[in-house]
Amino acid sequence: MHSESVEVLVIGAGPSGAVAAAIVHKNGYKVKIVEKSKFPRFVIGESLLPRCMEHFKEAGLIEAIEKAGFQKKLGAKFMMHDNICEFDFSEQYTDGWKWTWQVPRADFDKVLADAVEAQGVEIDYETGVTDIQFDGSESVTTVETSSGEKREIKAKFIIDGSGYGRVIPRLLDLDVPSNFPSRSSLFTHVVDTKRPTGIDKDRIIVIAQSKDIWMWIIPFSNGNTSLGFVGNKEFFEQYKGKGEQKFRNLIASEEKLTERFEGVEMVYEPRMLTGYSIGVKQLYGDGFALTGNSAEFLDPILSSGVTFATESGALSAKLISRQLAGEKVDWETEYSKYIMEGVDVFRSYVSAWYDGTFQKIIFAPNATASNKNKICSVLAGYVWDKSNPYVARHDRILTTLGKVIDLEATV
Ligand code: FAD
Repeated sequence: MHSESVEVLVIGAGPSGAVAAAIVHKNGYKVKIVEKSKFPRFVIGESLLPRCMEHFKEAGLIEAIEKAGFQKKLGAKFMMHDNICEFDFSEQYTDGWKWTWQVPRADFDKVLADAVEAQGVEIDYETGVTDIQFDGSESVTTVETSSGEKREIKAKFIIDGSGYGRVIPRLLDLDVPSNFPSRSSLFTHVVDTKRPTGIDKDRIIVIAQSKDIWMWIIPFSNGNTSLGFVGNKEFFEQYKGKGEQKFRNLIASEEKLTERFEGVEMVYEPRMLTGYSIGVKQLYGDGFALTGNSAEFLDPILSSGVTFATESGALSAKLISRQLAGEKVDWETEYSKYIMEGVDVFRSYVSAWYDGTFQKIIFAPNATASNKNKICSVLAGYVWDKSNPYVARHDRILTTLGKVIDLEATV
């Protein structure tokens, strides 16, 4: 079998793998990406958070993305019944990026991967990992191309950015079920010819029907808009039909959607994903690090997936570079603990959304006035800024605020 050697092998050319490979390459190490699909390929996850701009910048990818002309995202609008709450990323507690993008991921991920390739990183497309043998921290990975050819790649370190493929968690039995109940999402892209005028024309809107059921509207710069529904099994079972018919019935069920999307042309048959939340026993091991969705995926409500993917991709790349330079790296503290601190902040906010506390807070009159910029920073992905009390005390502050709002309502 043909065999080659690299210092770092990256599995997957999604945002996590692309950012990680670019940083390892910038640091002077031989890195290669193996990617199972041919790009462009579809993946969901279209609303980014300002925090991930820092990772794209660090990886030298911002200019290439900017040139592609994706839709700028300046904030987000939440709606529930007659309530509206708007967040503007320029009104943030944390001193960070004030904007980001809304992107069709097929195009976006191709821009990222092409830019990483242009920097000098080799990407083998249509090459999937089928097996990895570890000998201490050194590893031999078996890959198979779409034409059935098998090869071996020896590496000193592997970054697993394989997303929903979860290559190493599956091979080493590291998957842990999520403590969130199983939810589903049905989504498609539509040709959005009836966009409203004003700020809502290009803005992401999240509509909550109840604490369990919500929908997203994410406009793109190409004239299409991503439309998706999230709910439990019972919610989707209420609507008759399959695919496009079910989707049209869902649109008809929400008056905030009907005017804009009734009879809309769909770009592809709506897709359903179920039970996407998942955890992992460990984020690293001898000779590997798990990044992005291959590590942990919570829930789509906060649009945190890509930011978590690039945060973990960038950090693992920097730690590996230090280790290859002969430095000692404390993976438990510098990687696992750090990453999980951010994940746990997001987890508190996701839990608060699904128990209704988050909606209670953001839609309560005046309740967020003095704190809105701090909540805004969490929604911008700055979940590692512990000077923000909404980060540092994430586990208690939402519950406490929710109780205060309840108490005020009784006075
Ligand atoms: P991916 O982008 O999935 O990339 C992984 C790559 O690895 C793929 O290209 C795949 O082909 C490749 N691969 C897989 N297996 C192998 C193998 N064996 N060998 C080689 N390559 C392999 N996130 C957001 O930030 N914003 C959102 O608005 C958002 N909405 C979401 C809505 C829903 C319903 C769901 C379920 C998720 C959403 N997410 C969102 C999360 C988002 O989809 C992921 O978090 C994000 O794509 C993770 O990026 P990644 O780089 O880790 O993996």
